[in-house]
Amino acid sequence: MATRPSKVHYLSSSSSSSSDSDTSTSSSRYSMDSVVRPVASVEVLRCLRCARSVETTSTDDPSSQGMVRIGTNIYYCNRCAKMVGYK
Ligand SMILES: [Zn+2]
Repeated sequence: MATRPSKVHYLSSSSSSSSDSDTSTSSSRYSMDSVVRPVASVEVLRCLRCARSVETTSTDDPSSQGMVRIGTNIYYCNRCAKMVGYK
């Protein structure tokens, strides 16, 4: 007679373990997304002074596109860099 209530308790604990597997599948899907991402991404560098924009890839050197990097995600074009005295 004492085994009956424990059987009901086992049923409810098995349903909570199924939600545990749900979280593991969603985390494995997230890691797959990061693998698909390309290594070189296209970035648009915009001059802070004259707003001239240049398209480049993350593997390219900004200076080869005529842009001078003055800070994190902040660029001057060659002309403005000369005017401000960055070159
Ligand atoms: Zn400029």
